[in-house]
Amino acid sequence: MRNLYKPRRSQPEAVFPGKCTRPAKRAAFFSVVFALALGVFSGCGKEGSASAAAFGSARSGEKLKVTAANFPAFDLARAVAGERIELLMLLPPGAESHSFEPSPKDIVSIRNSDVFIYTGGESDAWAEKILETSASGAKRVITLMSLVDAVEEEIVPGMEEEAGEEEGPAYDEHVWTSPRNAKVIALFLAQTFSELDPPGAGEYAQRAAAYAKELDELDAEFTSAVKAGRRKTFVFGDRFPFRYFADAYGLAYFAAFPGCSTETECSAATLAFLIDKVKAEKIPVVFHIELSNEKIADALCEATGAKKLLLHACHNISRDDFQKGLGYLDFMRMNLANVKEALR
Ligand SMILES: [Zn+2]
Repeated sequence: MRNLYKPRRSQPEAVFPGKCTRPAKRAAFFSVVFALALGVFSGCGKEGSASAAAFGSARSGEKLKVTAANFPAFDLARAVAGERIELLMLLPPGAESHSFEPSPKDIVSIRNSDVFIYTGGESDAWAEKILETSASGAKRVITLMSLVDAVEEEIVPGMEEEAGEEEGPAYDEHVWTSPRNAKVIALFLAQTFSELDPPGAGEYAQRAAAYAKELDELDAEFTSAVKAGRRKTFVFGDRFPFRYFADAYGLAYFAAFPGCSTETECSAATLAFLIDKVKAEKIPVVFHIELSNEKIADALCEATGAKKLLLHACHNISRDDFQKGLGYLDFMRMNLANVKEALR
């Protein structure tokens, strides 16, 4: 069962066989969900959320409580709302986003939120499960994938499909990697916050307009960078979570694995294929993504003399970068410089 994405949740029993879940943790997770449904917990749980504490059920002040499952949702909400909302990111900075499992405290936070935002793909099948129980009390639930045109994950020549995948491609969940999609999402979040917090409508609108303008500028810069580039192909010695980005700017790509693969080491045949591509097309840069072991990119660069550079997909950011307050725009601007170098 791979096609977990759906604009409306309609198949309660079908959400769990996501490839990122593990049986033992899954069983423990089920018991947490059902205990919550029975009201067993009152806010205990492991540390790890990006915020200091889980949301309690008591209303503190007038701030909207917004829980974001991962970094893109967190950062776009922060961009349009600033300090006006109480914002929590469940995924700890630096953690692997595809294998996240919520703690009991996280589930309490979701239940006590006004708004809960998650991507809606395979990686957060756990969120679907929570929402199917009475454990969720969020007034609004937003999936990023339902706000834009989601496309299926693509297997391009040379790319390794994950073992055990028999039901065809899943919808690609990395919708935020296109700045155009990020704009649509940001504007929708601002609209939602305005509806739930009407006195803040002016502030949300102003912030959203300013942020949208920055995204438009970024989009224009990517468009002209690709136009000015000598080539239209980029190569990843890594997973490839940039389908929406590549589609937006008309780029072709070669990569070791699709976007959400859990594989980190590729076969000799995959490596040989990518080495041949880099050599044949004289590709100057091989990309790796954030929080990667970079092994395949290293091997490719060693074999071809290409330069290794980061293209940050913003699944998550390091603790250091989180503390510096860096966000999507910062990483995409760094990406712009690296894309220019790669398309030379
Ligand atoms: Zn991913």
